[in-house]
Amino acid sequence: MLLTFWESRGRSCVLGVNILEIGERMNFIDLAAQQLRIKDAIDKNIADVLCHGQYIMGPEIRELEAELAAYVGVKHAVGCASGTDALLMALMAYGVGPGDAIFTTPFTFVATAEVISLLGATPVFVDIGPVTFNIDPVKLEKAIVKLQMNAPPTHPLPKGIIAVDLFGLPADYDAINAIARRHDLFVIEDAAQSFGAECGDRKACSLADIACTSFFPAKPLGGYGDGGMLFTNDDELLNVLHSIRIHGQGKDKYENVRIGINGRLDTMQAAILLAKFAIFPEEVEMRQAVAERYRTLLTADAPAGGTEAGALAVIPPVVPSGYKSVWAQYSILATDEGARARLQEALKNAGIPTAIYYPRPLHLQGAFAALGYKAGDFPVSEEMAARIFSLPMHPYLEGADQELICRQFMVTI
Ligand SMILES: *Cc1c(COP(=O)(O)O)cnc(C)c1O
Repeated sequence: MLLTFWESRGRSCVLGVNILEIGERMNFIDLAAQQLRIKDAIDKNIADVLCHGQYIMGPEIRELEAELAAYVGVKHAVGCASGTDALLMALMAYGVGPGDAIFTTPFTFVATAEVISLLGATPVFVDIGPVTFNIDPVKLEKAIVKLQMNAPPTHPLPKGIIAVDLFGLPADYDAINAIARRHDLFVIEDAAQSFGAECGDRKACSLADIACTSFFPAKPLGGYGDGGMLFTNDDELLNVLHSIRIHGQGKDKYENVRIGINGRLDTMQAAILLAKFAIFPEEVEMRQAVAERYRTLLTADAPAGGTEAGALAVIPPVVPSGYKSVWAQYSILATDEGARARLQEALKNAGIPTAIYYPRPLHLQGAFAALGYKAGDFPVSEEMAARIFSLPMHPYLEGADQELICRQFMVTI
């Protein structure tokens, strides 16, 4: 596969020609098809940066921040070095540290909870819903109330929530924000996978107090390297984020008023992202068409000769009404772990790459062992981790390839 979600491999370049792994018939994510469309704009934008030479905090950063803030519908955007730094900076802006509890989901990429621990605060995991794979608001409020009953110093105090828009589908922010207001907590939207998604008439990245997105190459709006952005309507938070991004600077860079980080977005990445953003809204619609084709193919009745279980053996993703996913991943559920292994093997033999996001929930990762969780603590996350896997997904995926993919489900079980 040209690119898995978390790794991109270096390879020799033939512009617009995909170089596949041996035996592969298609890419998991196809960045070459996209590059072919916008190569001239990318070349020009890169040449402009080489010409003006403002590699750090050049004018493209401000331009990208303004364009993306307008698209998302929030007042302020702050470019930063990665989605992980965006989350870290958001927590730092709220002064999160030891003794603070931050509620989040165990069914996410490690970065979501890693930044909480990095600041000495305590991640408190809350299980997900089985349909959206996003944090369950009912369980969230129970966890908050339970912790509030245990006074410090034995337990950390509830301080904030990081909800994740997994696979590109926004979490239930109407419920989450209401819970946060009742308990005086802040809400951070981990929108690393959901830039371009919608909830009602609002866009992802506008759904909480601060939103954080990622420009990792495989994300819906990906650059050609690391990058990220924060979004907020809060003027006060904006000033603090600007300061944190550049070593806690005050009036100028040699006045330091707080502990910050080197969290800047590269000018070069901003220049590339400006070219990519020009076709992004169209790509979001292309993603809808690809997802709709999958849904039709996966829910079609098994043809004569196909085994009965074939067409019904996987559950396609469900988008609740009023929501629009940006389909960072097209993740489906097999009936159990063994069925998943058989399906993945059959797809692999047919030259079709698949991936598992995520095979192990965070509460069972060694990195979080000190939190004292055990198997069985979050049954929905654990079951999904055993059954879920993702099919190739990108705006340029062709119908014929999707038919080939879905045909495998007819013959496998
Ligand atoms: C990708 C991702 C991140 C981290 O983004 P980077 O830009 O890779 O640092 C954080 N949270 C989620 C849910 C992600 O998918």
